[in-house]
Amino acid sequence: MQLTPNISLEELTATSTGLANAPTRRERAALLALATHILQPLRDAVGKPVYITSAFRSAAVNRAVGGVPGSQHRSGQAADIHVDGMTSMALARRIVALGLPFDQLIEEFGQWVHVSYGAQHRRQQLTAVRRNGSTRYLDGVG
Ligand SMILES: [Zn+2]
Repeated sequence: MQLTPNISLEELTATSTGLANAPTRRERAALLALATHILQPLRDAVGKPVYITSAFRSAAVNRAVGGVPGSQHRSGQAADIHVDGMTSMALARRIVALGLPFDQLIEEFGQWVHVSYGAQHRRQQLTAVRRNGSTRYLDGVG
């Protein structure tokens, strides 16, 4: 089911865990808002596919992938994305420069970008790094 011209519900609910991952009405509404306000405008701006590695996670999927319980992936508000030919830092900076109304933006380990949309509109920007085996979040992207 297409949510926007280039973003489908299937790609926002895909999981490699093999576990059930069906969003409720409310979670689907959050995914639609994320696609409408963040993912589709980003796709239009970069002119290339925005690959979604993880968006919605059911409770079982979130546990299986080690997600934190309050993760915005659980509520359908967040997606982990990458674009071929762009570093994750370049992608994160592009999202900021475009003025997209994200809630939280995290450049994660130089590998992907976590971006969320929700009522909070914090426009929080972080960079996740691994130090001595644990994850630390630094203010800002770049
Ligand atoms: Zn994420």
